[in-house]
Amino acid sequence: NRRVLLKSRPQGEPTPANFEIVDQPIPEPKDGEYLSRTIWLSLDPYMRGRMAEAKGYASNVNLGDAMVGGTVGQVVKSKNPRFKEGDYVVEYAGWQSYACSTGDMTMKLDPEAAPLSTALSVLGMPGMTAWWGLMEIGKPKAGETVVVSAASGAVGSVVGQLAKLRGCRAVGIAGGKDKCDYVVNELGFDACVDYRAAGGNLFKELRAAAPKGIDIYFENVGGAVQAAVVPQLNDFARVPLCGLISTYNDMQMNPGPDWRLLLIKRATVTGFIVSDHFGQMADFWKEVPTAVKAGKIKYREDIVKGIENAPEAFMGLLKGRNFGKLLVQVADD
Ligand code: NDP
Repeated sequence: NRRVLLKSRPQGEPTPANFEIVDQPIPEPKDGEYLSRTIWLSLDPYMRGRMAEAKGYASNVNLGDAMVGGTVGQVVKSKNPRFKEGDYVVEYAGWQSYACSTGDMTMKLDPEAAPLSTALSVLGMPGMTAWWGLMEIGKPKAGETVVVSAASGAVGSVVGQLAKLRGCRAVGIAGGKDKCDYVVNELGFDACVDYRAAGGNLFKELRAAAPKGIDIYFENVGGAVQAAVVPQLNDFARVPLCGLISTYNDMQMNPGPDWRLLLIKRATVTGFIVSDHFGQMADFWKEVPTAVKAGKIKYREDIVKGIENAPEAFMGLLKGRNFGKLLVQVADD
């Protein structure tokens, strides 16, 4: 059983020395448990918080434990009547090739309904995040301008496409020409600003892409991008505060948005954690799987093979090296 353990806590950017890869015997399920082999492992920005000393909204990983993470697996042995050998499941097995579980948080997957990996991307946690933040907090109306940062990524790509389906102008912000081209040409956003190339012109380029101002800013990154967006919010703008990835490696707090501007614009900024709402996704399930099947919502997965390559891939995620939802293929389907 190949496992990736948290060896030490990062100071700033994670490094290979923070992880340890070990090969251990495959565990035996106890009564009430099943054993699964991991097929897909999701790598997500929140994992940086789990590596830290300070507790975030969920508890951190203890030193010496396997890194946590969402997975798709297949049951190989079961002592739990709800699961039988061969079942495909979405679970939280973490960075390891085999894991035992009581199944309390496990959902069964129909392998015919959609590719298995999508349970961790467009039809999984990131897709639901996009949905909740945009629909429940942003409440988009036709004709409004929606700006989303990390626009080519797992969450941002779905936000912009949902905004288009609601008749909005969708403007992405992403790092690099390839990502921006993809966002406009493949995903159908109206425009995309390359914040890396724009440098000091970011404010101006964003104004050109969103000439009527910004009604909804789906915040994924914080930092310099946020500073360029906030002054361009329209009155009564909504800001679903989803993530602040540019700050996750910071050792000290940096100043946040200009509160005076938020007051003057009567903006609403709402933080949310998608897992609070997993039980309230009926509308997501009604619309998104069909839209994905029909090609109205497209998705892109960035696949890394082999669990031993997860640390390197994760380090890249925090620097924008991924292009699409970052997944590790741990084993064949
Ligand atoms: P992505 O697939 O978008 O990958 C992360 C992207 O973030 C990178 O590709 C990069 O894109 C961008 N990025 C990385 N470092 C920086 C930086 N220093 N400055 C600006 N951009 C950076 O990840 P997800 O879609 O999974 O996550 C997007 C955001 O959503 C994250 O902030 C995450 O924490 C948050 N999130 C929040 C949830 C919630 O419940 N609130 C649930 C899920 C995700 P680029 O090259 O374009 O800069």
